[in-house]
Amino acid sequence: MELYNLADIKTILEKHGLWAKKQFGQNFLINKDILMTIVETAKLKPTEQVIEIGPGLGVLTNELAKLVTRVTCLELDTTLLPVLKETLSAYKNVQILNQDALHFSPCFKEYKVVANIPYNITSPLINLFLQADLKPESMTILVQREVAEKICIIDPDMTVLSLQVALFGKAKLVKKVGAGCFYPAPKVESAILHIDVYKPGDENYVETKKALEALNLAKKAFSQRRKMLSNTLADYKETMAKAGIASNRRPETLSVKEWLSLTD
Ligand code: SAH
Repeated sequence: MELYNLADIKTILEKHGLWAKKQFGQNFLINKDILMTIVETAKLKPTEQVIEIGPGLGVLTNELAKLVTRVTCLELDTTLLPVLKETLSAYKNVQILNQDALHFSPCFKEYKVVANIPYNITSPLINLFLQADLKPESMTILVQREVAEKICIIDPDMTVLSLQVALFGKAKLVKKVGAGCFYPAPKVESAILHIDVYKPGDENYVETKKALEALNLAKKAFSQRRKMLSNTLADYKETMAKAGIASNRRPETLSVKEWLSLTD
């Protein structure tokens, strides 16, 4: 039985009286090449610990469990637990937590996130991990292609979404993934997104508190993105002048460094 094989997936679902549930964003991966590309992109080492969000039937979990010390999965859909017990029975290093990933607080010192996530919670999920006290070393996730593209945009066309990621790490769209790689096929295209998270000592590392201050300022400016900064951040005119940022600029043109300079 191969968990990326459509016939096998249908057999498992039928056996357990289950179906792919829309409200949980269930689109199961059915393409072996994409599965392997995700795993290779994460560059896992045997001593590492991985957090997977939404294991589904366990297709990715299976590969991860072969490679690392421990895999901790967060799965919201309780009806999938008996399936996972079965499909992952060969592994003693997999822990399944029946919980909402959005209520999880990372409690490991070193770990990587590797997952095919439910697309409707992409942005809060990325923020949860990047803004946590204990951040992952990297996130390798399947997301909607459009979202991956938006995240990878840097100035002069930034958005709050891309800034939210760029403050904490370097994002890269690794591979575009067609809708046919999933069962059922979603209405949107997908992509493998890899975020290398900055750590203390890295050139681009900033403390979370400072990054969030810059982000809050940016959110204020982006809430009226067509207006010049002199209107949206009127209280910061002096700070902008000191930082050499012309107050007639619009928020999407500022670089990460410039946003950070406003919090100095
Ligand atoms: N990783 C699997 C399944 C992807 S579908 C595969 O590639 O085949 C998305 C998965 O996320 C489903 O298993 C769904 O039940 C789960 N899920 C949805 N919302 C969740 C949440 N808030 N927290 C944790 N898991 C969630």
